[in-house]
Amino acid sequence: MLESAQNIIRSVGEKMGYEQSKIDQLITAEMIYEFSLPICKDDGTSEVFIGYRAQHNSVRGPYKGGIRFHQDTTREEVQALATLMTIKTAVANIPMGGGKGGIRVNPKKLSKSELKQLSKKFVAKLAHVIGADIDIPAPDVNTNPTIMKWMLEEYEQIHGKKEPAAFTGKSVAHGGSLGRTEATGYGGVIALQELLKRLSSDKQSNMSIAIQGFGNVGYYFAEAAVAEGHTIVAISDSKGGIMGNNSHIGLDIPLVLECKQKKGSISGCYCVGGVCDSSKGKVISNSELLELPVDILVPAALENVINEENMKNIKAKIIVEMANGPITETARQYLTSKDVIIIPDVLANAGGVIVSYLEWVQGKQGIWWTQEDVMERLRTIMSTAFDDIWNRAKKQSIDLKTAAFELAIQRLISAM
Ligand code: NAD
Repeated sequence: MLESAQNIIRSVGEKMGYEQSKIDQLITAEMIYEFSLPICKDDGTSEVFIGYRAQHNSVRGPYKGGIRFHQDTTREEVQALATLMTIKTAVANIPMGGGKGGIRVNPKKLSKSELKQLSKKFVAKLAHVIGADIDIPAPDVNTNPTIMKWMLEEYEQIHGKKEPAAFTGKSVAHGGSLGRTEATGYGGVIALQELLKRLSSDKQSNMSIAIQGFGNVGYYFAEAAVAEGHTIVAISDSKGGIMGNNSHIGLDIPLVLECKQKKGSISGCYCVGGVCDSSKGKVISNSELLELPVDILVPAALENVINEENMKNIKAKIIVEMANGPITETARQYLTSKDVIIIPDVLANAGGVIVSYLEWVQGKQGIWWTQEDVMERLRTIMSTAFDDIWNRAKKQSIDLKTAAFELAIQRLISAM
């Protein structure tokens, strides 16, 4: 992931004619911390975990990026994700840079008190190199508003002052922003509608959509897409997917969620028109979902799911990359050559970091906006970013991902 993030920055930067030293500066992380995190476990034994924080680039503002807790987290992964955050904040044109952090741990194997201790230790190690004007962490894989609350408490205790803007992704009760939960999914639909507007003046609704992933991003993407008049014909989680008996039947998304919460998975939750009836639909695998004959495909779960093996079977003409890196570079080039339009992840899923930025602004000023205010600002920032990228892509006859990287690199290098 690190190599591919660096390669694309290098090749786009070189094509744009930038000096090698500027490109090197953009590729190299400004600072990477790697540290030990010993904790005392509930049974009296102790265990040492490894923590990381990559501060990739701050020429446009303080570092911004989540913290993940995962057993496979590595220094390289964190560095790659921080690099992509630098690109994403520049694409969204918000005054922030790129960072990312993580702990190499399987959080499911720790008790709540062990997790709290680990979260606080992580902050204690970094307390003097993060903060509202330096580096603002947020939740990522397996971290959540409760963990942000523990981390902020530790940070404020060490510094002896309140600083709510030092972390984002907090719950609303603890200084978070309204609209953060929905932001990534809703932002993706804002980008989709901007695309549809430009493709045809009369086909902005009633498109068929298949979504891989029914977590935070997949659910809110589906909700916002239905509100725009689209039809969600298939959706999946890690255990598989569901669709109606034919590919025109639209699923009742809130009811599917209710059914999944009761059953533990979405298999059997064929909820259409207010009724869940297992005779009205069928179970499909995650790979079948990706290959359905739909207008729009939305990978919203994992990376590299569209790759050399299945790229020739993809039938959708529009793909919205809501997960980070769901399409491999080879598959992207192949699909682009077949005129498939891909809204790239650095734009499509930027809604999350945009509302994190809005949370930071509110925290710094000590004011709280309504949900409508937050959504309006999200819409303005997303639509402007889409417009900038679309215009660049059209003017130079390049795809949206290349245009997004070009724009970000130009903004970053001109700020150096
Ligand atoms: P989540 O944990 O809430 O949901 C993930 C979903 O993916 C779940 O429905 C899970 O069942 C499903 N899933 C897991 N393994 C799968 C598999 N093998 N096949 C199919 N589905 C599988 O996560 P999320 O917050 O919705 O994030 C989804 C993606 O979006 C990730 O790539 C994440 O990095 C990216 N993203 C999230 C945000 C955000 O604000 N949450 C922002 C930017 C990018």
